[in-house]
Amino acid sequence: MTNHNQQLFDASLKVIPGGVNSPVRAFRSVGGTPLFFQRGQGAYVWDAEGKRYTDYVGSWGPMIVGHCHPEVVKAVQDAAAKGLGFGAPTEGELEIAELLCKLLPSLEMVRLVSSGTEATMSAIRLARGFTGRSRIVKFEGCYHGHSDGLLVKAGSGALTFGQPSSSGVPAEIAALTTVLDYNDAEGLERAFAEFGHEIAAVIVEPVAGNMNLVAPHPAFLQALRKLCTQHGSVLILDEVMTGFRVGLQGAQGHYHIQPDLVTLGKVMGGGLPAAAFGGRRDIMQCLAPLGSVYQAGTLSGNPLAVAAGLATLKLVQAPGFYEHLIELATELTIGLTIAARKHGVPFCAQSVGGMFGLYFSNNLPTSYQEVMSCDKLSFNRFFHAMLEHGVYLAPSAYEAGFVSAAHTVADIEATIAAADKVFTNW
Ligand SMILES: *Cc1c(COP(=O)(O)O)cnc(C)c1O
Repeated sequence: MTNHNQQLFDASLKVIPGGVNSPVRAFRSVGGTPLFFQRGQGAYVWDAEGKRYTDYVGSWGPMIVGHCHPEVVKAVQDAAAKGLGFGAPTEGELEIAELLCKLLPSLEMVRLVSSGTEATMSAIRLARGFTGRSRIVKFEGCYHGHSDGLLVKAGSGALTFGQPSSSGVPAEIAALTTVLDYNDAEGLERAFAEFGHEIAAVIVEPVAGNMNLVAPHPAFLQALRKLCTQHGSVLILDEVMTGFRVGLQGAQGHYHIQPDLVTLGKVMGGGLPAAAFGGRRDIMQCLAPLGSVYQAGTLSGNPLAVAAGLATLKLVQAPGFYEHLIELATELTIGLTIAARKHGVPFCAQSVGGMFGLYFSNNLPTSYQEVMSCDKLSFNRFFHAMLEHGVYLAPSAYEAGFVSAAHTVADIEATIAAADKVFTNW
């Protein structure tokens, strides 16, 4: 009997590099054949074999109200019936811009784009245009999309100059990015003391969700704000993942940190390609057509994406929405930890709002190095065993997980029971 997932993957390998349109989907990290999904409903997805899984990936975060929420589907259908795009302003764009500025007080103005990559890339150009400086600072293990200046790792020799982490990124571009350790407030102090006057912007994931999950030390976030203010550098909070995910006010509300610029994506598009960057009015006014920093997009503010975003953002404002999400994520991480520890498996877990991290380690990691020292082989074993039990986790030990409002306590309990079985035979 042929497996339909395998069949589709084999055919895809011939026409799509690696058979996928984004590398993590290829299951290279965990091994095996990626699942091809046919459909989703609420907390569940069905693969090409028709097998059902409880979904803890949620399209990597956007599906916070679950798959095919009737109000989101209807909003998109209604928008589609009126026209797929105009390349001209629409009322929906005004509506979502006003809503974003209302929900996130740090946004005085906002511009819509189509992906998180575009949002961070544009925010950095804007910060450079505003400050007239070239250098940017990022942190090891944070992901901000795939633009040249952000696919950079720490340089081996000089502290200041980063090195490309991808072929095709010119060393000259990477050298303008300085890469520091996440949560290292002292390293940040040293860097600013040495070349603070060169730094256009610091970009950071306020909860790191692209190296599994690493929570920020409050002192780290405070140091970021203080140093950027002192040195006239722009603080960019990359909330593409955390925005409307850790709470209605994002990580900036959760940790009470005031950014200069914010990037958004994932949840704000409700599953369609909508993203944004925004912040201080004096900075945003440097953008064309008002100012000299060029940025544009044929599909920016696409009516369908805006409709999906608006419908989703309406649902997350329901009273108790995030309390429910937090309850689910907390129950999941505690339940999994108890199940693992009961059987002597070194494991811990944590959540922030509706995102969570699972670690085959005795301690919660606080840096990229510590994430890398977790037991990856155990994760891979766990991933495949849970898949057998109908639980779809992120296919990599280095990604955060997500719950949606469509998950029920019964779903979470079933997942914990499955993990208990897996750990019993560990
Ligand atoms: C997903 C993500 C991005 C990139 O967004 P895309 O829409 O995939 O381009 C940028 N920053 C963070 C923090 C992300 O999680």
